[in-house]
Amino acid sequence: MLYPLSILALVLLALIHTTHGNGDGQISATPHSSDAIPYETRVYWMRRAISALAELDSPCPFAAFGSVVVNHTDTSDPKGKLVCMGVNQAAHVGNPTLHGEMATIENCSKVLTDLDGLYRLSPSEALKAYSQLSLYTTAEPCPMCASAIRWSGFAECIYGTSIETLINRGFGQISIPSQEVFAESTKLPGETVLIADVLANETDPYFSWQFNHSYPCPKGCERGSRDKFCKLQVTDHEL
Ligand SMILES: [Zn+2]
Repeated sequence: MLYPLSILALVLLALIHTTHGNGDGQISATPHSSDAIPYETRVYWMRRAISALAELDSPCPFAAFGSVVVNHTDTSDPKGKLVCMGVNQAAHVGNPTLHGEMATIENCSKVLTDLDGLYRLSPSEALKAYSQLSLYTTAEPCPMCASAIRWSGFAECIYGTSIETLINRGFGQISIPSQEVFAESTKLPGETVLIADVLANETDPYFSWQFNHSYPCPKGCERGSRDKFCKLQVTDHEL
């Protein structure tokens, strides 16, 4: 069991699982208006996923895919508790499968099972813990990541920029929406609520400069004179 969890949260979780069943494959695409979690909280964590880019990589990585994993069942903070975060690592380590969400799941498993960490879960406890966690990600998961999210059994997946927007901006993508992957994964245990279009007006600009040289760079970055890519701005005192 994921620690710390209040008794109330455990009771609520039991009720949710009883209500929805386990393995019968209900998939919800929750509209914002019926979301039990305030939209301001969604916005807070999406901004945290954006800031993970600068924290773990740069404010303007070419692949601006950042994610945070949050425990909304931990009532010690009304906003929920950050468990782990990650950003796309493919180009950094030469592993094409380490998209932002995949790197984040890997980080989360390390955090959950760290013997000196906060949770100290066994591997089997860590696997179960995912059903209490929500993944926020700057862009809609590709089919690989959407599948990994369903295999992990996350309670929720919340994203900003859509795959359609990524394609329109020039990114190579597989044209299968997350909702379709989720709908085809009903034989897996549990369900993952998918919440789309959270703060896309703030995530879209992170994916809009790469193939359009007249688009402004994200804050803190500027165009390189040769390759025209957005790079970390050099301040005067660093010159
Ligand atoms: Zn992916």
